[in-house]
Amino acid sequence: MRALTISRHGGLEQLEFRDDLPVPELRSRGDVRIRVRAAALNHLDLFTLGGLPGVTIAPPWIMGADAAGTIDAIGEGVNGLQAGDHVVVNPGISDRTCEYCLDGEQSLCVSFKLLGEHLPGSFAEYLVVPAANVRVVPASVPAEVAAAFPLATLTAWRMVVTRARVRPNDEVLIWGIGGGVALAAMQICKQIGARVWVTSGSDDKLARARALGADETINHRTHDVAKEVRARTGKRGVTVVIDSVGQATWQRSLGALGRRGRLVTCGGTSGAMVETDVRRLFWNQWSLLGSTMGNDTEFDAIVAELGAGRLLPPVDSVFPLEEGREAFARMERGEQFGKIVLEVAR
Ligand SMILES: [Zn+2]
Repeated sequence: MRALTISRHGGLEQLEFRDDLPVPELRSRGDVRIRVRAAALNHLDLFTLGGLPGVTIAPPWIMGADAAGTIDAIGEGVNGLQAGDHVVVNPGISDRTCEYCLDGEQSLCVSFKLLGEHLPGSFAEYLVVPAANVRVVPASVPAEVAAAFPLATLTAWRMVVTRARVRPNDEVLIWGIGGGVALAAMQICKQIGARVWVTSGSDDKLARARALGADETINHRTHDVAKEVRARTGKRGVTVVIDSVGQATWQRSLGALGRRGRLVTCGGTSGAMVETDVRRLFWNQWSLLGSTMGNDTEFDAIVAELGAGRLLPPVDSVFPLEEGREAFARMERGEQFGKIVLEVAR
């Protein structure tokens, strides 16, 4: 089968398109095999490419987390799925036996694994995953939209709905609009009825975000985001900040955060270590919240949204699987507004 692989960690030059890989077999009774139609890139794939501490790969390693396709083979222990069903995949694989899984919190699983990072990924013609990670979606949802949906929307949903508990009267600041999680967070916040502030270093991306419903826009290259938020809110600040940048934005996130504010983070793309003044933390009664992926209940909730035609992710561009390296280059340059998708099968 065809796949986008790496044989060692490094830069984009390590990405290798192959057409000679074996079609994977089911690993257990609870697995299904999916004929992948489209797969989407995530920033996570760049981290996997570069190498993560404690994660080893077996070459040729298949990259990719997000996928959409049709069911191709079904394990004996699987109920409720049929060959040919159109499905999306939750790329977070849990053991379903630890205390967090039994409590319904699969993304806290003590042996949590991600497709493409700990298990063979989705940038391939066939993908084997537990049936519990698969949901049926209407055939009318285009494959590139379905593939762009799961990881970013699930991550954003848990951040906005479960962790920050955004309400209609909230003012939510979202860094770096154009990325998949940021765009999904904006769509979810708007659906709730909150006012949304977005930042970007690109005025073009800010204009596009405004067209999609952003209420306030700030160019974080030319303006101090914290000062700008304070100025436009009569010094009160926003009630929620969605930050996945980490080190580079942390101080400005806190500078923009009003009393009783909640800051929720799902990543630190600019660096891991941040500094927080504990006096401001207790005096303002802030909540600093971490969030990773999402649980089964949240996955069900977002798939229902997709099925109802809501929270459709903007697709930036579609590349053939063979041109996966160009797709990665676009993501590495940060040029995208929306998800970058690989067309795996025509
Ligand atoms: Zn578990």
